[in-house]
Amino acid sequence: MTESTLRTVGVLGTGIMGSAMARNLVRAGHTVRVWNRTRAKAEPLAADGAQVVGTPVEAVRDADVVLTMLYDGGTVREVMREAAPAARPGAAWVQSTTAGLEAVGELAALAREHGLLFYDAPVLGTKQPAEAGQLTVLAAGPAEGRDAVAPVFDAVGARTVWTGEDSAAATATRLKLVANSWVIAATAATGEALSLAKALGVDPQGFFDLIAGGPLDMGYLHAKAGLILDGRLTPPSFAVTTAEKDARLIVEAGERHGVRLDVAAASAERFARAAAQGHADEDMAAAYFASFDDKAAERSDRP
Ligand code: NAP
Repeated sequence: MTESTLRTVGVLGTGIMGSAMARNLVRAGHTVRVWNRTRAKAEPLAADGAQVVGTPVEAVRDADVVLTMLYDGGTVREVMREAAPAARPGAAWVQSTTAGLEAVGELAALAREHGLLFYDAPVLGTKQPAEAGQLTVLAAGPAEGRDAVAPVFDAVGARTVWTGEDSAAATATRLKLVANSWVIAATAATGEALSLAKALGVDPQGFFDLIAGGPLDMGYLHAKAGLILDGRLTPPSFAVTTAEKDARLIVEAGERHGVRLDVAAASAERFARAAAQGHADEDMAAAYFASFDDKAAERSDRP
């Protein structure tokens, strides 16, 4: 990294993804200021070389690039309404939170109001790829600011897929929602296949052996099934509550555009039920438990 590619980056949100991304930004040599609502979750980043600050305003004040990695569009709006007036006009805002299509349009308008260059930039990949700097960044935004944001994308991801220049049209988020509908369907299918196997007295290994090497086999099945079967649902890579939020965003995007997405809708209900059973902060693979009534879940917490 040369002087000309080093940036001052204000990171808002240091949850599972934001903290990993901030760490990789520091490693790449950027000056990084981090803010998180719950400050204790940001504090460990000080040991990596990030500056932990107490308000969103302090994080963005002299930033070349502002990175938002919060829970949802509403959260980003709330935090950026406070922070944006303090940001330098002309600075880039990389919005990586998974938000709804409408929210992205509103955030783009907020950016315009404050003279910020808005990048709709959701990421594909979970905790481990985030920690390894191996995310795929899906990005839409003005060509004029791409040189400013490219070093940030390079620090957090292995690949950037540009989807267009008009960030308000949310072309990157559109692609992200399509990809997440696949992730969520695969997660739900994994949980249901394992719960059916349990109910029917079928050894899950028999199912894995049956599909091994064929077109029905997939790495993701083994990854999520492994978490369920080994009881490794905490810490989560992607929490049940966050997955429910995404499933609802997908259903809503479909409704707005005239398509009915029954699997995503049912998945949202499964995540909600698993959360009500006490699995809210576990990995989304815990949607498995939604197949069992509360009593059954109590009787047998694990497959
Ligand atoms: P997370 O660990 O739950 O982090 C959520 C962040 O949002 C935390 O910093 C949290 O602050 C903050 N937050 C929540 N409500 C807030 C509020 N009202 N005001 C201010 N801050 C608030 O979630 P994550 O897994 O990192 O996900 C972050 C985003 O990335 C989500 O949009 C998610 O859909 C997306 N995403 C996640 C993954 C994944 O695999 N995990 C992959 C791709 C994209 P506190 O610490 O104070 O709660």
